Amino acid sequence: MKLLEDKILQEGIILSGDILKVDNFLNHQVDPNLMMEMGKDFYEHFKDKKVTKVLTLEVSGIAMALTTALEFGAPMVFAKKIESKTLVDDMWEAEVHSFTKNKTYTIRVSKKYLTSDDKVLIIDDFLAKGQALSGIKELCDQAGAEVVGIGIAIEKKFQGGGEAFRKLGIDLYSQATIKEFRNGKVVFE
Ligand code: 5GP
Repeated sequence: MKLLEDKILQEGIILSGDILKVDNFLNHQVDPNLMMEMGKDFYEHFKDKKVTKVLTLEVSGIAMALTTALEFGAPMVFAKKIESKTLVDDMWEAEVHSFTKNKTYTIRVSKKYLTSDDKVLIIDDFLAKGQALSGIKELCDQAGAEVVGIGIAIEKKFQGGGEAFRKLGIDLYSQATIKEFRNGKVVFE
């Protein structure tokens, strides 16, 4: 998606540890027009999949998952990372290890909002080693929901996380695929 690639080239900052900082438009300040265009682009790719639910992980996946859900006319659900006193429902739960934060946390979705009737489109901001995606997919597997596609804003292909999902035959579509960081610059595939 050229619009997203241009944004990354103009405003992305490469940090140590192969981390791309995109706080200017995605991870802290959010560009609403870009989110709308990303939602339309995900819809174009997955429109034949009969999506009943768009599932993401709080916090940064929410904006683009919402605009995508709007296109499908389906609800958006976000898995919660933080335990809360209001979470009194029965929950599906999975563990996620974050390499960027170097910690393991539990993600949860209420059994009310993810069921065996659902055809789920998973949306997330980054795909690196695939741990976050594995956790989200695990929630779907527990619920008996079908994962009909995975939409990623930025895939760092050199970290290999997408491979396992593509091998499973899941349609994994990334709007910007980074091949490498070379001499402090982003190189797209
Ligand atoms: P994975 O679980 O695939 O290794 O990493 C995915 C998660 O880690 C994303 O949801 C995102 O929160 C975070 N992450 C991984 N790589 C990056 C990066 O280069 N930049 C930012 N901002 N977050 C990242």
